[in-house]
Amino acid sequence: MENCLFCRIMKGEIPSAKVYENDYVYAFRDINPQAPVHVLVIPKKHVSSISEIDALEDKDIAQCLLAVRTVASLENLADGYRVVSNCGPDACQSVPHLHFHILGGRKMGEQMA
Ligand code: 5GP
Ligand code: ZN
Repeated sequence: MENCLFCRIMKGEIPSAKVYENDYVYAFRDINPQAPVHVLVIPKKHVSSISEIDALEDKDIAQCLLAVRTVASLENLADGYRVVSNCGPDACQSVPHLHFHILGGRKMGEQMA
């Protein structure tokens, strides 16, 4: 996806603050953090959201969640963290490349939304 923002970030065409990377995933700091730690984990293969996750191979999907755990460990989130993936317009998804927000470093609200 040539014009996808997160594909371009993952390829290094647009700068980002990398937190973690392997063959399957890329993790970087959100440009507009909503918590002391706010990291985005994306699969290197482009799919728009969880709604299209069947286009990924199982390994790509598993690696996203394993990367969430790795980032939480790297960022010292032993007290907990929240993982969010917005899917589509009702969730106000703004970048149509699957991503998992990892939010931590403060107490989250009890309400999910
Ligand atoms: P969404 O609203 O789609 O769930 O989340 C998209 C996230 O991407 C937002 O939290 C937004 O701050 C972040 N974002 C948008 N553009 C950029 C960018 O150019 N660089 C980085 N690091 N994050 C971005
Ligand atoms: Zn993309």
